[in-house]
Amino acid sequence: SYVGIHSTVFKDFLLSTEILRAVTDNGFEHPSEVQQLTIPQAILGTDILCQAKSGLGKTAVFVLATLQQVDPIDGETSVLVMCHTRELAYQIKNEYSRFGKYLPHVKVSVFYGGTPIQNDIETLSKKETHPHIIVATPGRLNALVRDKKLRLGSIRQFVLDECDKMLDQIDMRRDVQEIFRATPTQKQVMMFSATLSQETRPICKKFMQNPLEIYVDDSTKLTLHGLQQYYIKLSEGEKNRKLNDLLDTLEFNQVIIFVKSTIRATELDKLLRECNFPSIAVHSGVSQEERIRRYTEFKEFNKRICVATDVFGRGIDIERINLAINYDLPADADSYLHRVGRAGRFGTKGLSISFVSSEQDQEVLKQIEGRFEVAMPEFPAEGIAPDS
Ligand code: ADP
Ligand code: MG
Repeated sequence: SYVGIHSTVFKDFLLSTEILRAVTDNGFEHPSEVQQLTIPQAILGTDILCQAKSGLGKTAVFVLATLQQVDPIDGETSVLVMCHTRELAYQIKNEYSRFGKYLPHVKVSVFYGGTPIQNDIETLSKKETHPHIIVATPGRLNALVRDKKLRLGSIRQFVLDECDKMLDQIDMRRDVQEIFRATPTQKQVMMFSATLSQETRPICKKFMQNPLEIYVDDSTKLTLHGLQQYYIKLSEGEKNRKLNDLLDTLEFNQVIIFVKSTIRATELDKLLRECNFPSIAVHSGVSQEERIRRYTEFKEFNKRICVATDVFGRGIDIERINLAINYDLPADADSYLHRVGRAGRFGTKGLSISFVSSEQDQEVLKQIEGRFEVAMPEFPAEGIAPDS
């Protein structure tokens, strides 16, 4: 339904040679549909509201567009990117490092809670370290702004990743609004998510002026191509045995196992390690430093199994994950979509298996099937062939 001819190589975008070189170094050849539709407008400063399925490369849209536009002035921050979890902020900062590697004068910092705020204050207090681009979670950023450690008078790009999540949660929304009010009226605003309900869209648009609205695939048809989705009916008491069997028999590179609470994550991780599975747990029950350490260990393939709560459910991109297991089914269809989206990133094949044990699980399963217009089959008792 979008009219016009879209470029099919990155070179067609008006990106600087430094940026294009980094794009090539990172193995990006052809822009994805969402990148084709948004990058040309984004680099011109147009406001953007973008919904596109997980794994299609939304991050590169704002990272490339902001790197292209940034005019680094020492002591001033002109780009502000916010997202809802610390791991995601950390990941986005790394994307800036990858794509900005030939722009050594552009400084990027990441700020989030759970770490000593004094470090952030120090970074901001010196001209030599003051970032031109900040990636942050809203709580920590707002604290820095309130304490007048950071001035936002030079902001020219304001980006929200996983915007629906940030605006749906009351306290996060309050922080975002306060921060937004501290930025100049004239600026580019860009927002991204895989899920943007009809109710959330107008809320997002209140922050924007005449945005380009890109909805790649209708939200009802957010089926994840290349992802095989199954469920298994079982009782709560059978979950561990079943999980054990699956991890033994399925061929996977890396797996993410979602549970509903921090305690369950800790316990299940412990259990798996006792059974000699190379497992690690990521959740909000450990120190921030430890969380990032574990995230990195998993991302770098030192561990193949990650037990996680929903802090890992959105936005996190780990190439080798090709299996997602919902040990506990999430409470709603949106969360389900974000979780299983961790498997099968950017066109790779993935598998998801959801345990269904309670009546409420049954309801959620129905809701998922209805919402995404998919019939989710029961996982065959004999398992599936590695290549099917
Ligand atoms: P989204 O935010 O839409 O869920 P991400 O930005 O996390 O997706 O990208 C998913 C993965 O696809 C990342 O590993 C990213 O490096 C990769 N990717 C994005 N765009 C391209 C591209 N044009 N070519 C190759 N890989 C890409
Ligand atoms: Mg993303």
